[in-house]
Formats: sequence, structure tokens, C-alpha cells
Amino acid sequence: MESILNELSPNALRDPLSSELANTIPYDLFVETVEQAPIAISITDKKANILYANQAFVKVTGYQIADVLGQKESILSYKATPRAIYYDLWHTISNKRVWQGTLCNKHKLGHRYLADLTIAPMLNEHGEITHYIGMHRDITQAYEAEKKVVNHKLLIESVINASPMAMVVIDDQDQVILDNHMYKALISDLDKAEPARFFLSLLRQELGDSWHDIQNNQQGFNNYEFKIDGKNTKRTRWFSCAGNWFLENAVNADAFFENASKLYLILTISDITKQRRHMQELHLQTLKTLMSEDERVRGLRETLLGAMHQIQMPMNQVKAAEQILKHKNDSQYDSLLLNLQRIQQSGEDAISMMQKCIPEILQSAIIPINLNQILRDVLLLTDARLAETGVEIEWQPLFSLPTLLGSENRLRLLFKQIIDNAIDALSTSEQKDPRIKISTHTDTDLIYVYIEDNGPGIALDKRTKIFEPFYTTRPQGGNQAGMGLVIAKEIVNQHHGIIDIDPNFELGCSFIISFPLHKQNARRLA
Ligand code: FAD
Repeated sequence: MESILNELSPNALRDPLSSELANTIPYDLFVETVEQAPIAISITDKKANILYANQAFVKVTGYQIADVLGQKESILSYKATPRAIYYDLWHTISNKRVWQGTLCNKHKLGHRYLADLTIAPMLNEHGEITHYIGMHRDITQAYEAEKKVVNHKLLIESVINASPMAMVVIDDQDQVILDNHMYKALISDLDKAEPARFFLSLLRQELGDSWHDIQNNQQGFNNYEFKIDGKNTKRTRWFSCAGNWFLENAVNADAFFENASKLYLILTISDITKQRRHMQELHLQTLKTLMSEDERVRGLRETLLGAMHQIQMPMNQVKAAEQILKHKNDSQYDSLLLNLQRIQQSGEDAISMMQKCIPEILQSAIIPINLNQILRDVLLLTDARLAETGVEIEWQPLFSLPTLLGSENRLRLLFKQIIDNAIDALSTSEQKDPRIKISTHTDTDLIYVYIEDNGPGIALDKRTKIFEPFYTTRPQGGNQAGMGLVIAKEIVNQHHGIIDIDPNFELGCSFIISFPLHKQNARRLA
């Protein structure tokens, strides 16, 4: 064993610095270093005949030194390594370069193992190859571990990809580092380059300050629903978001002795449009039932009030005639006077009977109400009419609107009346781009709803009259009794609010309806 190392020593220590070292370090130490090195080392001649092997070689291959001396290195081959690799190996080393790669080796006991092998050519003073030195480690376990990680990753990816929900892993810089097929589909569906960032901004807006708290505590969140309004031909869609944070231990060298980690968010985005449409459909049906009952009552009230109004006019004339005749104090008019009094009496009876028949506006529970929701309901109810008339809605709700105490039914009736009026006005106008802008606002005392349309508007002299009974700006009075705004005003009054037309709005008509905040009108609602 020592002889081959003796033979090699002059070449191996050709370098002047190495020679200097060789003088200071005993030669035996070099021999022992190779002998005891914890990596399998073998030295061969130019034809790969083994001339030397160390202790680690024995341990890794299972062969005793005596078994391999004089044998070819191919004794280690399992014959499973592709020929091209051997070709590359020999091509490299015979060109005096170092080859490094992985071969499939056969242990003496017959099982295969993976050898991470480095072969270096050894040159004489003329630069000619004299020997080869091979160093290899058994990397079977490390390879298995690495493969397991890859398999795990593939498994996780296929599970994620099979999920019917869009899933993404986002790092602390909002960068998507892993996504699934459904997420990729979402990119084109929503026409957004990175839907995850879009949903993150919505979630941060919705969760406000608590976003950082739940992130720091890695609490996770669930069921945050968002509505995405469709543009052009695309329909409105709803999505539900859930998220969980996890810490990943850093794998770089910097973190080897320091437990550095990075926070990631797994965000799942489910398309709940179908369920929401179904719920919306049910909600719409309920609203329609409620509204139709309200409208029936309203219609009856309008008809009876209209009839009473109509009867009242001739009654006033009869009363005036009676007064004139009474003044004349002439007995020849006695029978006429009697007749007039009878007519008057029967008229008053009819009015009083009609008065008794006027149905009460349906009472409904008085609860804290978010006007944004009421307005959304009304928009849902008018959706078909809007589509039919081509009127566009610009909906600008205040994000967190305070509540007011009131009746949902009555408030729905109020806003439906105003929006219906605006649609009527727009559909009879020449406006090419008919639109209604609805916005909600608040200050310290009041909640405001602005309903603006770009229709013909209402002339200054008619603005106070529109709240009077039986007044209408429609040509020939239309088929409506002109009681809509009277009822609207009544509802506003019942909620201690104010309804007005904005005198500064010149593009059409703008109604401003304001209500006191919940705390102030809590116990006072009629
Ligand atoms: P071989 O007939 O031995 O060789 C296959 C091809 O290699 C040939 O067609 C030829 O192109 C090329 N080749 C072979 N010998 C030479 C040569 N002397 N000069 C130029 N080209 C040549 N193999 C292992 O499988 N496991 C090992 O751990 C291993 N360790 C090695 C360590 C050293 C230091 C050296 C020099 C080689 C080592 N080899 C090892 C390669 C080994 O010598 C064989 O080439 C290989 O095992 C293939 O054996 P084979 O009998 O299938 O084909």
C-alpha cells in the first residue's frame, strides 16, 4: 500500500510549496491521512486497475483490500449506469480534467448504492497521465431524502391542483410563489395580472388594523366575501377568501446557526357566485313579496285618497251654494236647500266611509338599518327595469356607513319611489347616456343618501309642489296619482329625516335624503 504512495509522492508533491510542506510534515502523516480519510479513495493505473484503496473504500464497497487489488474499477459497476456517462467519464479524465458525477455501484453483498464520484488524473513531470485517483461517497440515503422531498412537493402540488378552489402561497413581499390550476384560470377570468394582490388589498381594507394582529398571531381568517362587478359582457361574481399563515425555516447558509424564518400566507379563493345567485334569487323573491304587499296598500291608499280629493271639490261647491242660498233667506229655495244639504250629507258619508277604508301602511319591525343594504335591495328590485331602459347605475356607497333605526320595508319603499321616478324621467328624456348616481355619506349627526340623475330635472317653481298630494309633472298627469313623493316624504318624516332637492345641482335632478344617526333617533321613531 505504501509502495504506490511512495511511487506517487514525487509527482504529487511537485509544487514547491507542497515540497516545503513535505519537509515540515512527516511523509507517514500523508500516507495515514489518505488511509484514514473518511471518503472511499482508490488509485488506479491508466487502465483503471486498482493499485490502492483506503479503509473507507472497504467500508463503502464491502470489499476487502485484497479482493480489489489488481481488479478493474468496473468491479464496482452495477451495469445500470448509462454507457454515455462512462464515455463522458473517460473522455474527461483522459483529457487530463477532473470528472465528477453519480454512478450506480454494486456493493459486495449485491445491493446497489449511489456513488458520488470524483476522478482526478495524476500527471508526471512531463504532464503525462500516470494514474487516476478516485474518491467516492455513498449518497443513497441523501438521494432518497432529496427524492422524498421532491415527491412530497409533487404530491402537494397535485393535491393543490386538484382543488376546486384557487390557491396561492404568497410571501411577505406579496409575491406569489406557488399557485394552482384554478388560480391560473382566475387570472384570465378576472382579467387581472395577479388576482392574489387584488384580493389581498380587499382583505386588508376589510380587516383594517386587525389584519396585522391576525398576521402577527398567525390566526388565519375565513369566509371573507367579495363581489366583483363584471365589466362589459362579464357578469358580477362573488368570491370567498380564507387564509392561513405559516413560518418556513430559512434554508440559506446565513440561517444555519441562527433560526431565521419567513412568513407565508396560503390564500384560498372560492368562487361562490352560484350559491350567491341562488341566495340573491331567494332574497329577491322575498323582497318582491314584501314590496308587492306594500305597493298594493299604497295603491289602495292612493286610489281612495284620490277619490276623496275628487269628491271634495264638488262638495265644496255644494257647500258654497248652500251658504249663498242661506244668505238669501228666501223660502222658495227651501226644497233646493234641503236637497243640497242631503247631497252634502251623502257626500260626507261617502268620504267618511272611504276614510275608514284607507288601509294603514303596514307596520314593520324597527331595527338598526344599514342604508347601503336597503339601497342594494332596491337596485336588485329595479335591476330588470334598469336593463330594459338602458339606465346605468353609478353606485358609490360609503364603506362603513353608520346605522339608523327604522323600518326596512318603508325605507325600501321610499328609495324605490325615488329611483323609479328617476328612471321614468330618464326614459322619457332625450339623454343618450342616462345614468343615476347613488351615494351614501355621513357626518357627526346625519346619514345622507344622494340620488342624482342626468335627466331633464325639475323646474325651480315646481320643486315645492312635487311633495304636494296629486301633483305630477307627467304629461296629462300620466296614470299615476301623484302620491309617490307624498308617501316618500311621509316615510322620511317618520324617520325624522329630511328630503330635499339639491338647488345647486344643474345636470338633472338630485335628491338629498338625510336621517339622524341611530343613537339620536333610537327611541323617537313613530
Ligand atoms: P468498460 O469497458 O470498462 O468501459 C466502458 C467505456 O469506458 C468504454 O467503452 C470506453 O469508452 C471507456 N473506457 C474504459 N476504459 C477506458 C480507458 N482506459 N481509457 C479510455 N476509455 C476507457 N466505474 C463504476 O461503475 N464505479 C466506480 O466506482 C468507478 N470508479 C472508478 C475510479 C477510477 C479511478 C477510474 C479510473 C474509473 C472508475 N470507474 C468506475 C469506471 C470504470 O473503470 C469503468 O469504465 C466502468 O465501470 C464501466 O465498466 P464496464 O466494464 O461496463 O465498461
